[in-house]
Amino acid sequence: MSKTTAQPLVLIVEDEPAQREVLTYNLEAEGFAIVSADNGDDALLLVEEEQPDLIVLDWMLPSLSGIEVCRRLKLRAKTSAIPIIMLSARAEEVDRVRGLETGADDYVIKPYSVIELMARIRAQLRRTRPSTVGARLEFDDVTLDSETHRVERGGKELKLGPKEFRLLTTFMEKPGRVWSREQLLDRVWGRDIYVDTRTVDVHIGRLRKALSVHGGNDLLRTVRGAGYALG
Ligand code: CA
Repeated sequence: MSKTTAQPLVLIVEDEPAQREVLTYNLEAEGFAIVSADNGDDALLLVEEEQPDLIVLDWMLPSLSGIEVCRRLKLRAKTSAIPIIMLSARAEEVDRVRGLETGADDYVIKPYSVIELMARIRAQLRRTRPSTVGARLEFDDVTLDSETHRVERGGKELKLGPKEFRLLTTFMEKPGRVWSREQLLDRVWGRDIYVDTRTVDVHIGRLRKALSVHGGNDLLRTVRGAGYALG
């Protein structure tokens, strides 16, 4: 499954098939891309392979528990920023504090309402991937509306191609962060598609041109040997 800025990828870790199906169905209906696992070991592998934007993690899993999965993911720099929402039965509520100490970002008690879970998921993504929940992004004099796909600089509309729009969204979600060409390929083109890293340079060039069409300084920074950054 390719990941794009338009569609957040959610990993569902739940050992009960019926619950997994309901979650998958509801999240897909909300426009999320889904990968799922029924045990903790597979979950850890999937996180590595798919780099999900968020994880819905059942507490009670066979062998490796949800808590242990959470703890391991939060210990590793590469995965620690991925929001984790833990699911737990009411009987385990006493362990709630422990769950939060393992670094879970939120906690939902079973049986939960799908509406509540969706709200919690959106709240997490608003923080980490604002463009995926229709937020308006701002940087310097540039605004990007991820719902209407309208980009303006200094109040004047800019015309961007789809790849340039995704590139700009990626940059605007994390101003100042340096992205390597490989990371930008993953984010914008999707990891399953083979595209040469030089393609990134071509589209960065187009984005630069589009951003300065009404004047203004160059907002994109080329970081030699590393990649690109906004600001
Ligand atoms: Ca379970």
